[in-house]
Amino acid sequence: SASLFTAIEMAPRDPILGVTDGFNSDKNPQKINLGVGVYSDDDSKVPLLQCVRKAEAQLIEKLSPRTYLPIDGLAAYDKAVQELVFGADSAVITEKRAITVQAIGGTGALKLGADFLKRFSAENTQVWISDPSWENHRALFEFAGFTVNNYPYYDAATRGVNFAGMLDALKTMPRGAIVLLHACCHNPTGADLSSDQWTEVIQVVTQNGLVPFLDMAYQGFGDGIDADGEVVRRFTDAGCPLFISNSFSKSFSLYGERVGALSIVATTAEEAGRILSQLKRVIRTNYSNPPIHGGQVVATALASPELRALWEEELAGMRVRIREMRELLAKKLKEQAPAHDFSFVTKQRGMFSYTGLTKAQVEKLRDEFSIHTIDTGRICVAALNTKNIDYVVASIAKVL
Ligand code: PLP
Repeated sequence: SASLFTAIEMAPRDPILGVTDGFNSDKNPQKINLGVGVYSDDDSKVPLLQCVRKAEAQLIEKLSPRTYLPIDGLAAYDKAVQELVFGADSAVITEKRAITVQAIGGTGALKLGADFLKRFSAENTQVWISDPSWENHRALFEFAGFTVNNYPYYDAATRGVNFAGMLDALKTMPRGAIVLLHACCHNPTGADLSSDQWTEVIQVVTQNGLVPFLDMAYQGFGDGIDADGEVVRRFTDAGCPLFISNSFSKSFSLYGERVGALSIVATTAEEAGRILSQLKRVIRTNYSNPPIHGGQVVATALASPELRALWEEELAGMRVRIREMRELLAKKLKEQAPAHDFSFVTKQRGMFSYTGLTKAQVEKLRDEFSIHTIDTGRICVAALNTKNIDYVVASIAKVL
């Protein structure tokens, strides 16, 4: 007889984890995984940063009992993250208009924001995300109960942003619409807005009463911590309500510790207090309070001038290595596939590149060369290194 479970259909496979499954079962020792969004070093290893090792060594010295953290997380963490996201001298901090709560990675931060917005936005409020966007954005806001739309973003012809299309879409959104924007290092395309384009976006968002939600999963991977955070400061200067999710998965190479935060900017300190009280209920009814370890590591590293400097140095090392791989990829492809222009790779930022490779070419790379990546042609540039790049370039040249 039919049970509760009889009619449950198999869910579609996660496209990115599917690539990893395919990679894991590939027996070729030369296999390369360019699919997953993780930074690896020149030896194809995910780094354990020195600043993390040192912070953990300090924490081991003063082991403490594992009581519950406050609902909104470790106070020292929330404060340090707030200063990182807004800038230590930000008016929204001194005026106590910003609230920051620890979250379970950037994903957890997005989900807290989505649940909060669903509860407090007008009933028919909808969400707009870029076309394309990080593949979890749509599902995450849909599972929170929203209708999710796309605004034009990527322009395959120029391998850049279809800015006119994006701006037109922003202009037609109803007041109160939630617009998800990538603060820097757009995932999956690698194509970011210019400073002048941000000026226009901020103008439309504020004039039309849209609610911006900045996803900042890659602060420090574009032009540096402060330069990448600049867009946040420009939104706060504009004086609109603002949601920001940020993550230390990539910038501290702490993927599995699940460290992120949600920040909300209010109009007044009194309003911020009410928002925080309600956000705590969202947290309390989901997972009660966040885990201790990752937040402690990041708070320790950010609070110590020595560890903070070390972190910035190590983060710069990751950023520079990715940029070098972009330069090398473009240069070597120019040599081996002169009919194709790959110079756009050096203009893209962050961990990813939309290469323009077709699904058929991606399949050929996988089946004939054991190079695994996403059907859309997105590659993780941070998975390239001086040892595998020649093989990758030669293989791409053969499938073009
Ligand atoms: N947002 C974007 C744009 C991302 O690329 C990612 C991770 O890949 C996330 C959010 C989620 O980050 P986390 O792994 O910290 O949950």
